Amino acid sequence: MRAVVVNQPGGPEQLQFQDFPLPKLQIGDLLVKVKASAINRSDIIAREGQSNYLATPILGIEVSGEVVEVASGTNIEVGTRVMGLVNGGGYAEYVVMPADRAMKIPENLSFEEAAAIPEVFLTAYQTLFWLGELTDQDTVLIHAGGSGVGTAAIQLAKQMTQAKVITTAGSQDKLDFCRSLGADVCINYKEQSFEEEALIATNNQGVDLILDFIGASYWERNLKSLKTDGRWIMIGILGGSEVNKVNLMELLQKRVQLKATLLTPRSDEYKKELTKEFVQNAMPLFIQNKIKAIVDQVFQFEDIQNAHKHMEANKNLGKIILRVN
Ligand code: NAP
Repeated sequence: MRAVVVNQPGGPEQLQFQDFPLPKLQIGDLLVKVKASAINRSDIIAREGQSNYLATPILGIEVSGEVVEVASGTNIEVGTRVMGLVNGGGYAEYVVMPADRAMKIPENLSFEEAAAIPEVFLTAYQTLFWLGELTDQDTVLIHAGGSGVGTAAIQLAKQMTQAKVITTAGSQDKLDFCRSLGADVCINYKEQSFEEEALIATNNQGVDLILDFIGASYWERNLKSLKTDGRWIMIGILGGSEVNKVNLMELLQKRVQLKATLLTPRSDEYKKELTKEFVQNAMPLFIQNKIKAIVDQVFQFEDIQNAHKHMEANKNLGKIILRVN
C-alpha cells in the first residue's frame, strides 16, 4: 500500500510517499480501506519532529473508510463504513483501527464528511463536557472559532446545552460562519480586544469556561476574560508555549481551574470511552442534520504537501480532507 512518511523533520516538502506491506491485525482490530483522511495540527508538529506519539512512521490520526478484514474479538462486519481515531497510519491506503473506537458512518454522511469528524469533535466533546463541565447556565469563550475544533465546539455547545457561546476569529468570513453555527457573540481578535468584549457580554462577570487553543499570546487576556472560579482548558499553543511573566497571585485570587490536555497520547481505554459516549450523545445530532461535519477543502492524496501548507497558512475554515481511495 502507499503511505505518507516524513523524510526528515522539517517542512511540508519532507512528506514523501513510500510503499508498505498491509498492516497486521491484533485481537480486537479492524483493517480499514481508507477512503478519506484528515489533516491535524498534531500532524504538522509530528512532521517537524516535535512529538512522537504514533505507533508507526506513517502520519495521520483519523480516517473514514470501509472495513475489509476483522480480527477475532470484534462484532463489526466486513463492508461496514466506519470513521474513527487511529494510532497513527491514517495517511495510507489501509490502516488498523481498534474496533471499539470505530464509529459507524450515518447514511447521510459521505466518507469525506465522516473523516472531518473524529479528532475535532472528540476533542471538542472531551474539553467542553469531560474537562470543562459545561452547563446550561454557563458562558463559554471558544477561541479559533473557525478552526476544526472551534467549529465542532460551537455546534456541540449550542446543540447540547443552553450555554452562551462567545467566539474569536481573525476574519469576517470566519466570524460570519461561526454565527451561522449558532455562536452568540463573535469577536474579530485582529480588530477588537476580546477580553473587553467578553466582559461586556457577561455584565463584567467574565466567562465560566475558556477553550484555549492559543496559549502564551493570550495568557493575560484569557485571565482577564475569566470569571472567578472559572475553568480554563488549555488545548493548543498556536500563540506560543512560553509565557514571559506569570503572576500566580492573579490565579489564586480568581481561583482559576486550569487544565491542559492532549488527546493523541491518551490511552486506548480513554479513547474507547470517549468515542462510546460521543456516539451515544452526539451522533444522533448528525443524523438529524442538527450538527454538520465542516469540510473546508478536499485534497487528492498526492497533494498532501499542499494540504499541509494550506493549514499552516491559517486558510482553512473547518477541516482539510485527503481523498485517499
Ligand atoms: P485549524 O483548523 O488549523 O485552525 C486553527 C486556526 O487558529 C487558524 O486557522 C487561525 O484562524 C487560528 N490561529 C492560528 N494561530 C493563531 C494565533 N497565534 N492567534 C490566534 N489565532 C490563531 O486547527 P485545529 O486542527 O482545529 O486545531 C486547533 C487547535 O487545537 C490547535 O492548536 C491544535 O493543536 C489543537 N488541538 C488540540 C488537541 C488536544 O488534544 N489538545 C486536539 C486537537 C487539536 P484565524 O484565521 O481565526 O486566525
